[in-house]
Amino acid sequence: MSDTPVFTDLDYAKDGKQIGTLFLPHSVNRSAYGNICVPIAVIRNGPGPTALFMAGTHGDEYEGQVALSRLIRDISPSEISGRIILMPAVNLPAAVAGARVSPIDQGNLNRAYPGRPDGTPTQVIAHYIESVLIPMADLLQDFHSGGASLDYLPMAAFQFSGDAGLDEKAMAALCAFGAPLSLRWSRGIGTGLVATAAARHGVVTIGGEFGGAGSVSKAGLDVVMRGIRGVLAHLGILASAPGGGGTRFVEIGGRDYYAVTPEAGVMELAVDLGEQVEAGQLCALIHSPESPERHPLEVRFRRTGLVICKRPMARVERGDVLAHLATDF
Ligand SMILES: [Zn+2]
Repeated sequence: MSDTPVFTDLDYAKDGKQIGTLFLPHSVNRSAYGNICVPIAVIRNGPGPTALFMAGTHGDEYEGQVALSRLIRDISPSEISGRIILMPAVNLPAAVAGARVSPIDQGNLNRAYPGRPDGTPTQVIAHYIESVLIPMADLLQDFHSGGASLDYLPMAAFQFSGDAGLDEKAMAALCAFGAPLSLRWSRGIGTGLVATAAARHGVVTIGGEFGGAGSVSKAGLDVVMRGIRGVLAHLGILASAPGGGGTRFVEIGGRDYYAVTPEAGVMELAVDLGEQVEAGQLCALIHSPESPERHPLEVRFRRTGLVICKRPMARVERGDVLAHLATDF
């Protein structure tokens, strides 16, 4: 049993469609016995595998939030065998604020696992997911995008788990998801990740980046809607897979895939998403409008690759990522 303070009226073992709430006690000046109300839906029809889908881990990443809300309305229990658990705004305070991290505790949910039952709201949410939801799941997919500060080509993704069997299953799930690109993250992008939490429980996990720039990407949303149905068919939860799909596998092999500015200023990007670039090619000029006599600084790519991510915001600080690459594997 989990020692979580989170409570819910949902019954995860019940057939049918339940759309409800995870109540996280949050006592503040304006509400002494208040709760943070995290939305959740459970759609179940008999025994079978369980798919757990989450979005809003980062509140300014929207394609998954829109897609999961739509699926909660659209999928009927009679269509499926097994169980689907959907959380369209999993770090609710961040999602409502349209911000990457929670405004209550500055918590980044995808750095918070395994969480704490007695911690801040973000830590309590992480703990509930790891101690209650992940153990029920056969597959977990957490939907991301570039948020406000990055913009991605729509792509599914996974991170090496260190378990060859799990990684093989994640690759198969990515093929079923069928995004135009499927990205393999190098290890070491951070600690406290949901992918690491799922691996601790032997649960297959995939993710993805489906747009960004603080907007809802129509192309990214289409990829998510088709991909979820592909994964559900792959698991046997839906009877038939949607048409289309087919994916190109790419990876980020190291820090040299990232173009980072050594100076602050105004970024003029010289490339666009989807461009193939060479080592030494110009990535961006960094202008200094406050010192117009200065020549702009040139930031160049350190290796060849495909531009899969760019920064949409022109104003940059020293150390900001301007764009990054991936290569086929
Ligand atoms: Zn994210």
